[in-house]
Amino acid sequence: MILNLFFPKKCLQCGVVGVYICDSCLKKVSPGRLVQNHYSIFKYEGVIRKAILALKYKYATDIVHELSKICATKLKRQKIIKSKSITLVPIPLHKKREKQRGFNQVGLIGKEISKQMNWKYMPDLLVRSKPTTPQASLKGSARQTNLTGAFKFNPKHTKNTTHNILLFDDVYTTGSTLKEALKVLREEGYKNIKTLAIAR
Ligand SMILES: [Zn+2]
Repeated sequence: MILNLFFPKKCLQCGVVGVYICDSCLKKVSPGRLVQNHYSIFKYEGVIRKAILALKYKYATDIVHELSKICATKLKRQKIIKSKSITLVPIPLHKKREKQRGFNQVGLIGKEISKQMNWKYMPDLLVRSKPTTPQASLKGSARQTNLTGAFKFNPKHTKNTTHNILLFDDVYTTGSTLKEALKVLREEGYKNIKTLAIAR
């Protein structure tokens, strides 16, 4: 693969050749948390943190593939997520930012996870209605204000409010992004919504 010329495949944490996420580095990452309706697969640290960051800044399909496989393996063991009729909805990027970056990494990995889990994937059930400042650069209440009104239900979809929705983001920091998206779907009448992040 041509990308390997530019990003030789090495563990993002220890440098061992052959994979981006090696088993021994993966074992050092602590498991995430299951809190009510939210599940984070990992703690945001070590090789998982490096993989999520790498996805944001360089497009490497191999990283998406490795990371989604690892996530799916963990998810299959997690009872709360075990439902046959899940629809995964990734947190959308604003069109302008998606255009700048060329892709939405949350969508890419969400799509792969859905495929491996046999879930439905609905990338545009929600749309980002205003560009927001990256959450990481804001503190406390500014994060919430920044996100208010950020998402809208996409009117091109028919409302199927009985669907089991799994809202998906890469990182759970304060949870405000997922909570805001969840609020929008609740207001539309959706009843069964859980949230999922790769890491917290
Ligand atoms: Zn390693």
